[in-house]
Amino acid sequence: HGEESGGEEYLFKIVLIGDSAVGKSNLLSRFARNEFDSNSKATIGVEFQTQVVEIDGKEIKAQIWDTAGQERFRAVTSAYYRGAVGVLIVYDITRRTSFDSVKRWLDELTMARMLVGNKCDLENIRDVSVEEGKDLAEEESLFFMETSALDSTNVQTAFEVVIREIYNNLS
Ligand code: GDP
Ligand code: MG
Repeated sequence: HGEESGGEEYLFKIVLIGDSAVGKSNLLSRFARNEFDSNSKATIGVEFQTQVVEIDGKEIKAQIWDTAGQERFRAVTSAYYRGAVGVLIVYDITRRTSFDSVKRWLDELTMARMLVGNKCDLENIRDVSVEEGKDLAEEESLFFMETSALDSTNVQTAFEVVIREIYNNLS
């Protein structure tokens, strides 16, 4: 696309999954627009946002898809996953039921996978320990990170780790 030789283009489709209200839409808006919405309603409309990330000097377009309020298990359609090369599975560290759901979500997925414990700014009402997150990630061979869409902790890094993993697996 008009670049000198050696200039390749990469487009990675990455999907966000996890129970309703764990913060998926806010992680995406923080990553793509540096915005946070403290009373975001159920996701409507926006299907995906594209963000350019530089890995090893290569420009990578990450097309991040957000569920359009289809979080109920099995309501997420195969079209949502089609062509995806990476996934962030998000739970809310203040809500154990969202952590318990992770294993069900995992069964369906074979692409580069990152486990994300969101809302780490809410330490005072934590319900899932960092160790539990780490242990589950180790058991299931996932990358793991705790994030906060509110104060931006690790949001950029979480997306970049999975993008780098996809990039490293090319060839
Ligand atoms: P989704 O249903 O998974 O897309 O979740 P949303 O992004 O809509 O977030 C659900 C609620 O959690 C909203 O009220 C957000 O403001 C709040 N929220 C999202 N991320 C964070 C976070 O990192 N910290 C805190 N304290 N609240 C968050
Ligand atoms: Mg949402």
